[in-house]
Amino acid sequence: MIRVEGLTKQFGDLQVLRGIDCTVKASEVVCVIGPSGSGKSTFLRCLNGLEEASGGQVLVHGVSVHQPRTDVDALRSEIGMVFQRFNLFPHMTVLENIMLAPLKVRRLGLAQARGRATVLLEKVGLIDKIDAYPNQLSGGQQQRVAIARALAMQPRIMLFDEPTSSLDPEMVGEVLAVMRALAGEGMTMVVVTHEMGFAREVANRVIFIDQGVIVEEGDPAVIFSSPAQERTRAFLGKVL
Ligand code: ADP
Ligand code: MG
Repeated sequence: MIRVEGLTKQFGDLQVLRGIDCTVKASEVVCVIGPSGSGKSTFLRCLNGLEEASGGQVLVHGVSVHQPRTDVDALRSEIGMVFQRFNLFPHMTVLENIMLAPLKVRRLGLAQARGRATVLLEKVGLIDKIDAYPNQLSGGQQQRVAIARALAMQPRIMLFDEPTSSLDPEMVGEVLAVMRALAGEGMTMVVVTHEMGFAREVANRVIFIDQGVIVEEGDPAVIFSSPAQERTRAFLGKVL
């Protein structure tokens, strides 16, 4: 589904990604962990072309993301992204937030877009908030709407960048539950997270990034209990 080869990224003199190689198969859940500033968000943003690569390449279903001829908008509509901040449109209701892209980008009819939104709101447990505005919702509810909004485009891949990091602790569980259900349905997911419990339980594979390189990757059971690299051990020692 995703193949990353020799990906490098620099901002001016700052070398953020120093040669990343990895693949993500269909229906795989890959959790990316690592210290703050190690390049996790930049890596994720390179996967859907939100960030230009400095070198190397990213292939999504065989399509090279950073080729000038690639239709990045079309590609991005196949890849849903959920951010730390929920980024809902404040002047639109929950329903309008979810229907917007399917109407504008997918050219769905009103009834069809509404039907799809309703199904998704049932799924994330927020059908009773269909006509609410974002500021009437808790952080956890807003993030679940953001996930529903991304799913409304029927993406083949979902990218999550620390989706629970700005939530109050009591709301983390409800968002992780939605993500766990999505993983259970076979969605291909790349999740940057500090939720080690989630990574251990849901990920098929964990990637530890430090200073712009993949230091170690593998089965969560192995990474969390007996990491091979000293840097991984040191990091896990601080967060576990
Ligand atoms: P992480 O998500 O692991 O915390 P990031 O990918 O956000 O790390 O950032 C990695 C490094 O790249 C940081 O030093 C950050 O300041 C820098 N960086 C990220 N985005 C930009 C940008 N648009 N311009 C300049 N520097 C950036
Ligand atoms: Mg980040």
